[in-house]
Amino acid sequence: MNLKYDYVIIGSGFGGAVSALRLSEKGYKVLVIEKGKWFNATDFPKTNWNLKKWLWLPQFKFRGFFKMTFLNHVTVLSGVGVGGGSLTYANTLPIPKDDFFITGSWANLNPWQKVLKPFYKTAYKMLGATVNPKLHDSDLLIKEIAKDLKKEKDFKAAKVAVFFGEPGKTVKDPYFDGKGPDRKGCIHCGACMTGCRFNSKNTLDKNYLYLAQQLGAKILAEKEVFNVETLDKKNISKGYKISYKSSIGKKKKESVTTKGVIFSGGVMGTIPLLLKLKETSLPNLSNLVGKCIRTNNESLLSITSSKDNDKDYSKGISIGSILHTDKNSHLEPVRYAKGSSFFKMMSLPTVTGKYRILRILGVLGILITKPIYILKTFFTRKYAEKTTILLFMQTLDSTLQIKRGFFTSMKTIAEKGKKPNPFIPEAIDLGTKVGAKIKGISYSNFTDILLGTTTTAHILGGSVMGEDAKTGVVDKHCNVFGYQNMMVCDGSVISANPGVNPSLSITAISEFAMSKIPEK
Ligand SMILES: Cc1cc2nc3c(=O)[nH]c(=O)nc-3n(C[C@H](O)[C@H](O)[C@H](O)COP(=O)(O)OP(=O)(O)OC[C@H]3O[C@@H](n4cnc5c(N)ncnc54)[C@H](O)[C@@H]3O)c2cc1C
Ligand code: SF4
Repeated sequence: MNLKYDYVIIGSGFGGAVSALRLSEKGYKVLVIEKGKWFNATDFPKTNWNLKKWLWLPQFKFRGFFKMTFLNHVTVLSGVGVGGGSLTYANTLPIPKDDFFITGSWANLNPWQKVLKPFYKTAYKMLGATVNPKLHDSDLLIKEIAKDLKKEKDFKAAKVAVFFGEPGKTVKDPYFDGKGPDRKGCIHCGACMTGCRFNSKNTLDKNYLYLAQQLGAKILAEKEVFNVETLDKKNISKGYKISYKSSIGKKKKESVTTKGVIFSGGVMGTIPLLLKLKETSLPNLSNLVGKCIRTNNESLLSITSSKDNDKDYSKGISIGSILHTDKNSHLEPVRYAKGSSFFKMMSLPTVTGKYRILRILGVLGILITKPIYILKTFFTRKYAEKTTILLFMQTLDSTLQIKRGFFTSMKTIAEKGKKPNPFIPEAIDLGTKVGAKIKGISYSNFTDILLGTTTTAHILGGSVMGEDAKTGVVDKHCNVFGYQNMMVCDGSVISANPGVNPSLSITAISEFAMSKIPEK
């Protein structure tokens, strides 16, 4: 059969980008299909008040790169566009804590820490990871907290995917012996999560995808894959037909044929697609699709200073430092750039407790007892400069299941252990400590307070590794059980809680999976 491609990759985030480059290097003909847009540096919004350029809500003609998905137990933040989550992420690339490699459904499949070590090294190199050279006010604030906790040694500048050349100066490709694009030195403006307008952030379109294109990989943007079927139902080795339609304009349906297919849509793309396909064209998929979904057990708190001083918490890269608070937990100060204050519209004072009504009464109590602080910090024109966001994460585990809803493509149900908790006591305590230093109180996402759900930028799992189809959706090399030349390479194969930001691990595991594919 004359197949158009050797591999079609669905999604261009970390897993998809690694796959595109490594398969192209091995001589395969590759097509990447991506739901979101291509972005040039100047396409990114100046602040996140430019909702049309920031948010991905194509039904309202908002064609940005940041997506929020509200599920029963969790509000998920993710990226959409050529480069996936790298367009909106905060560049931080920590190595997971030791437990990650020896827990979860993948634990017995490999001595992962040893096996993945060289691939973490490659991932670091490809993403241009380097230690943040300059701490700014919010980093110094967390350093002070570290000192108070007698944990100064556990405070470190973060390793990040940013080009720190001479600020604002354009140079020839500094990473890939001249084969990559020109880059500009970071100016520490804090806008990494609303898109780097200065060509300094090492997004995937500047490394993996750029190099893959040089080798002939084709990238089709603004197209959403909605069906994958075997070309011959009786012979799964014959190849696949991939059907897609425009994700923004007229929904004309098109298709291509391919020998192999790689699902790289991230958890929010791959899992609803696989759940649908299991009921329709790919019935051999494991019954575990959608199970073992994890967050990083995160807590996101924002604290706005009411002190009249010249501290500017918006300066620096989005995440510039990390404090390891104990064996299982760590804290990162996060910032948005000057003017990017949209999230204050989505925040409420943090009030913990089991019962919603008591939390709401608690919020009303704060509004009544602290009107001057509330008004001063809400109406300030310097919201981003005065606000530091605390991102707290833990390795402790709890899992959810994503299912197809009756009216929706996804709903969650709690699986094992406690459901993700929006009010992690250690995080709340750190929020209070930071608040005391800067004369502020903690705020949480409104869904945390009103619904008792948690907010995560690190959704993982749903297509986890196992020994066979009864214990996993994919094997230890990311091959899908029940089909041939079909893989999943993205956050959905992460089979334990890394306890840290996951992009480096997704990159390393995808590199490992690709290393097992022979040359064409
Ligand atoms: C605000 C924010 C900050 C973050 N900061 C960090 C950080 O500092 N460090 C870190 O490690 N991680 C961070 N993350 C998390 C990180 O972005 C994700 O873990 C990572 O991007 C997941 O990679 P992935 O390969 O699973 O897929 P993604 O990067 O999510 O990419 C999937 C791509 O597939 C596309 N797609 C989905 N379905 C389809 C379909 N059917 N057809 C075509 N295309 C499709 C999507 O549009 C998307 O572009 C952050 C996330 C957010 C939202
Ligand atoms: S701090 Fe500013 S210049 Fe530096 S990477 Fe982030 S957005 Fe780009």
